[in-house]
Amino acid sequence: MADKILAKDKLADFLGKLQADYEVYAPQEVEGKAQWAPLEDAGKALWEFSNTSMSPKDFFFPQTEVLMRFKNVQDHESGMVMEAEPPLDKKRLLLNIRPCDAKAFQVLDLIFVQDEMTNDLYWKDKRDMTTLVGLACSDPCPSCFCTSMNCGPASTTGLDALLFDLGDKLLVRSLTEKGEAVAEGLDDAAEGDTAAAAEQATTAEGKISSSVGMDNVNSRSVMELYEAGMWDRVFENCLNCGTCTYVCPTCHCFDIQDETQGTEGRRVRNWDNCMSWLFTMHGTGHNPRGTKKDRVRQRFMHKFKYIPVKRGGEIGCVGCGRCVVLCPVNIDVRRVVNDMNA
Ligand code: SF4
Ligand code: SF4
Repeated sequence: MADKILAKDKLADFLGKLQADYEVYAPQEVEGKAQWAPLEDAGKALWEFSNTSMSPKDFFFPQTEVLMRFKNVQDHESGMVMEAEPPLDKKRLLLNIRPCDAKAFQVLDLIFVQDEMTNDLYWKDKRDMTTLVGLACSDPCPSCFCTSMNCGPASTTGLDALLFDLGDKLLVRSLTEKGEAVAEGLDDAAEGDTAAAAEQATTAEGKISSSVGMDNVNSRSVMELYEAGMWDRVFENCLNCGTCTYVCPTCHCFDIQDETQGTEGRRVRNWDNCMSWLFTMHGTGHNPRGTKKDRVRQRFMHKFKYIPVKRGGEIGCVGCGRCVVLCPVNIDVRRVVNDMNA
């Protein structure tokens, strides 16, 4: 698939064409922060931003999602009518998604899409209906450590197309059929443009200033890591506030509740988090992760040991650095993993 070129002064026309087929979303400045929002005006798309503070996982795994609605109907044979929520009726396109966030969706596919019997159709339908057009990072933030997590500033994993910002023009690299549909009609890139994109990727990778080691985490047994003395120290400052889990693109704990009013109701799935005492509370009163140490250890063991063991070596972290920046007591995942690896 040949690289293409899109002049930035043609962005409005390009967006207009996309909008015929897709609902288009992109990071924009909203209330002083980079946030995902519907892209109505091409001029509002951000081209220089570190990343959105909330990841785009909400597009596939909403904070609150209605799974079905139900109603008591006395003359119905089962006494109840249930209706599934309709799937998306228009394709979606996420423009300028960062490579780490696209990689996170591939990690979550391993959890939500496993086989025909257990596939999470709410996740899968939205994934199938969505095209991911990434924007390579040219200036990674100090909290990023994506290159330690099988990712990188110009990683293509999980993307349909990748854009490189070359100043007054964009290099458009199609990676899948969905990506080719987006790039259709654009002019071929010159060799110099492709070389400039490669140079930008190499320079950006060189700017990643932090790294973590995983060799010993991989070679140690689950029990050896689980029983490590470091957990007696790591958990102490944690507030169990859950911020790290809500901003994380790969965290996916949820809870399902039935909400009723009169003879009708709806079943909803809500984000939950493993840092919460209530998340693992059993109806019997027993809680298998009843202490703060249990819960903090679970978050890190899940990402860096349980997921790699169960999912062919894939890591449950993409090194986006959001939790590093937003933890109110400065618990730094990079330090925790380096301690696990020591
Ligand atoms: S954001 Fe920090 S304090 Fe809050 S639960 Fe996560 S590690 Fe604990
Ligand atoms: S654990 Fe932290 S650095 Fe890793 S993907 Fe989640 S938010 Fe990003």
